[in-house]
Amino acid sequence: MRAAPETILILGGTREAAEIAARLAESRKARIVTSLAGRTREPKPVAGETRIGGFGGADGLAAYLQDNAVDLVIDATHPFAGTISANARRAADLRAIPLISLARPAWDAVDGDRWQRVATIADAVAAIPEGATVLLALGRQHIAPFADRADVTFVIRMVDKPEADLPFARFVLVLGKPDLDVAAEEAMLVAHGIALIVCRNSGGRGAYAKIEAARRLGLPVIMIDRPEQPVGLHTYASVEALLGAGLLRGLADPS
Ligand code: NAP
Repeated sequence: MRAAPETILILGGTREAAEIAARLAESRKARIVTSLAGRTREPKPVAGETRIGGFGGADGLAAYLQDNAVDLVIDATHPFAGTISANARRAADLRAIPLISLARPAWDAVDGDRWQRVATIADAVAAIPEGATVLLALGRQHIAPFADRADVTFVIRMVDKPEADLPFARFVLVLGKPDLDVAAEEAMLVAHGIALIVCRNSGGRGAYAKIEAARRLGLPVIMIDRPEQPVGLHTYASVEALLGAGLLRGLADPS
């Protein structure tokens, strides 16, 4: 039987990762380090220790695990962040340490949703009706292909002001994070005259309020499906289920 882990690396950048860090750090039974990619200029503080920046691929991550005596990795990254998840699987294998993954379920359309599901960003670009005003709810590294649609006005929400000019013919920049409050998202959609949302099927609650707001307003959504990710041995659908994992051996205090 494996000993309880002493140093846990959480691959983060999501609200769920911060929740996991808070619950594990609170019990003070293990050293908790959260890793962020460094995409946000002033990330919200996370409980426990934080390190920022890429590792240099799977081998770099494996070296970090060894140098820091990490004995368990938790992959709580975003469902579309496929590279770091693949690197985590490879590095944990190389170091022969366990990997626990959070795979939050995708959203399903419910009554009143007007979704057009597409497989890729290119399909989403092509599916936008001529001349529409669109909330482009994607990470900044994925928005460039939409610049081909000079007929469309894009409303783009970003946490940080971009350093370079955005490549769009017509756009409105909204600084901030998605609101958890449906009424606030509804007000934002109305204020900007948005006729359509383009987003990815991230799952979870952090980005869901805009979907509920679109439903209330009867707005269509172009929903980009997620790529298939392998389901590991220790994959959990919620923070609570993950914290109950046998490998964590009661390291999280009950909420
Ligand atoms: P990605 O494509 O899977 O990763 C690209 C590279 O970024 C990785 O190879 C790794 O560099 C580095 N990286 C990613 N996550 C890291 C982490 N937690 N700690 C240290 N390095 C990390 O990921 P992405 O889609 O660019 O997302 C980057 C981060 O933003 C993730 O942590 C994710 O949880 C968060 N996030 C992403 C989205 C999204 O829409 N994709 C949304 C919300 C939050 P090296 O190879 O050099 O190690």
